[in-house]
Amino acid sequence: MINTQIVPDIVFRENVEELNPFAIAQTQLDETAAVLCLEPAVHAFLREPVRELHVTLSIRMDDGTSKVFKGFRVQYNDARGPTKGGIRFHPDETIDTVKALAAWMTWKCAVVDIPLGGGKGGVICNPKELSNAELERLSRAYVRQVARILGPEMDIPAPDVYTTPQIMAWMADEYSVIRGQNEFGVITGKPLALGGSRGREDATARGGMCCIREASRVLGLETRGATMAIQGFGNAGQFAATLGQELLGAVIVAVSDSRGGIYNPNGLKPQDVIAYKKRTGCLTGYPDAAPISNADLLELDVDILVPSALENVITAENAPRIRARISAELANGPTTPEADYILQRNGVYVIPDFLCNAGGVTVSYFEMVQNAYDRYWSEKTVHERLDEKMTTAFHAVHDKAQELGVHNRLAAYSVAVGRVAEAVKLRGWV
Ligand code: NAD
Repeated sequence: MINTQIVPDIVFRENVEELNPFAIAQTQLDETAAVLCLEPAVHAFLREPVRELHVTLSIRMDDGTSKVFKGFRVQYNDARGPTKGGIRFHPDETIDTVKALAAWMTWKCAVVDIPLGGGKGGVICNPKELSNAELERLSRAYVRQVARILGPEMDIPAPDVYTTPQIMAWMADEYSVIRGQNEFGVITGKPLALGGSRGREDATARGGMCCIREASRVLGLETRGATMAIQGFGNAGQFAATLGQELLGAVIVAVSDSRGGIYNPNGLKPQDVIAYKKRTGCLTGYPDAAPISNADLLELDVDILVPSALENVITAENAPRIRARISAELANGPTTPEADYILQRNGVYVIPDFLCNAGGVTVSYFEMVQNAYDRYWSEKTVHERLDEKMTTAFHAVHDKAQELGVHNRLAAYSVAVGRVAEAVKLRGWV
């Protein structure tokens, strides 16, 4: 049974916009529970992680002193398979961010229908202030503490903000030492030489481009020559720029990073911008473009907006001024629940984060499959299988939005939560 009446009351019950990521994740689930008329016990179970491990790590620094770091690993829900999710090394990491990201991983794996649950990990640290040797000791110490709940059949981490393939290699090695045998399948995002998958590097942006292509088809928008603005110019944003041009024929008119952005209505050359950022460390001063602030970039009159940086950048305050036809969320959590309703009212077609950026975890799952069989696929095979998964997931969400008459995020939640709830019930957990 479907109940769509209850949704706006739930969303607008507060005057102050909630920006705590875990509170937002719970609000989004509450809306979905109302729409799906989810059994109260199942709803209550899905509101919290099933497991949460807090660890304290003492690391020997290069100068001989010891420093203490706090870390977390959250396993949100493993009803559909082992939990999966990245590890962040960030000075502002909080348990609430990790819990929210673990919840979103659960819905992400379910929406693309891969047999995995959702998890996330983090260490409060600033990797930019650590030497390579200190970073290695921290990575290995983290694995020693969380190894008791990791494993290819239990929980499989991956890289996330400020963690790299090298860090994944140290972690896979440390886990293998603990187990007394090679266990490369315990982690994904590894270098190719240690069982990584071809096509992982650009998988997040590539999956997002499949979603934009399909969204354009259902909206009757021609992607060739469509204008695109990208906020955030790291892994996700840079590949969005190159693949947006290469695969969709889009014209990239604006990009930004933490220090500001650049704008040229006639189009930027993504490869040149990437080379410039590599050379100078920022975008400012790039020739043939005007400076633009991050706030103004979001409000540009473009066909496609691609938030690829941070959480909570589209809120009730600026949502009324967003003019893009499509907002393709490569970042996690860029839009608040209130903003979602404003965008829907204004006809902005949102491709929600855990659908739009699911290409990364999909290829991570492909990496696990290749590790398990010890047989490795060509890049072409990875691209084809990724496209198939993303296209199927996009249409499942689009069709659900039409069926229920709700915005796309709520539709994505309905697909994903419905699948997880079914597994929870079938296993007799609730
Ligand atoms: P990254 O660290 O490589 O890049 C982040 C970019 O955001 C950098 O260019 C940084 O300068 C920019 N940035 C930081 N603060 C900003 C601000 N205030 N305004 C504008 N830009 C700012 O990270 P990434 O891997 O590209 O991830 C970006 C987002 O995509 C995150 O939300 C992440 O969770 C999400 N995501 C990434 C992947 C992946 O495979 N890389 C997968 C799923 C989701």
